[in-house]
Amino acid sequence: MALTNEQYETIMRGYSEQQRLNRLELQKRRDFIGETIPAYPALEQRAAELSIFYGKQLLNGDETARDALHKELDALARQKAALLKEHDLANDYLSAPCQCQDCHDTGFVRDENGNSVKCHCFKQKEITLLFETSGLFHLETYPDFSTLSENNYPAEHRDSYRVILEKARRFVADFPAGMQNLLFFGNVGTGKTYLSACMAKALMKQGYSVMYSSAAGLFELMGDNTFSHDTAGHMHHIFSCDLLIIDDLGTEFKTRITVPLLFRCLNERALHKKSTIISTNLDIDDLKEDYTERVFSRIIETFSFAEFTGTDLRYRNAGLSATEKTTTKQA
Ligand SMILES: [Zn+2]
Repeated sequence: MALTNEQYETIMRGYSEQQRLNRLELQKRRDFIGETIPAYPALEQRAAELSIFYGKQLLNGDETARDALHKELDALARQKAALLKEHDLANDYLSAPCQCQDCHDTGFVRDENGNSVKCHCFKQKEITLLFETSGLFHLETYPDFSTLSENNYPAEHRDSYRVILEKARRFVADFPAGMQNLLFFGNVGTGKTYLSACMAKALMKQGYSVMYSSAAGLFELMGDNTFSHDTAGHMHHIFSCDLLIIDDLGTEFKTRITVPLLFRCLNERALHKKSTIISTNLDIDDLKEDYTERVFSRIIETFSFAEFTGTDLRYRNAGLSATEKTTTKQA
């Protein structure tokens, strides 16, 4: 088990707190409706009375009572929906609000065999908690696809950037589609990190577990046998999260175990049929030279390549306003 009891309790306390906030929010909405649309609670009251009335009829042997009740309740539901619409409120305004529609903020769902299993939101919390001190990026601060514009690219490189963007969007749309791997390569500051962060965020929004680490951070984590918690638990996430993004491959401090660690990581992820994105400033020849023929052929066999052309956008965009600069921040 990857989490300590204490960490597990932390996550569960978070869910309890979220449920408490959800209940408060629901009560607030109910109070609001009571004040602004008094006809609404009256309809709810009417529905409760009808249920009791027809329930008694049914007990007395009146078989038509069930259908009659359904008809009346449907009519009331339509009137309630109309009232909400009249006041510009969503149809589900009085449904219990929650952060995760799949587990309703309980952290658990039923699998196909009816067993209680961790929801995707639990897994993402687990990853965040386990790796929060390990130099991984804070996923919630990631940028959106909507901030990307090919206009930030020099005209002569826009065509190739457009192709990469299309590839990235397809990757997200088709995810998980078995295992899809991408290698982003090209000069420093051409948008590789930024684009992969957009992809990470889009997939997290869809409920996939995503890990994002610099190559340096990842190898440090994998090679650290004295890692304070349960190393096997961390390895499990590195090998089996839905998407692993290894950023800036080639900038890490190389030791004799770096290459075997990368090989193991790619191998394990292939076994788990999970996707990986690698970004690197190295060119293909350097990649081959630095990471050996063995790792390189694994990458060639299983990755699709995308070359980021052009020069450092950070210098190019240096003349933009502060807001523009933040949306075009590259690594
Ligand atoms: Zn959930």
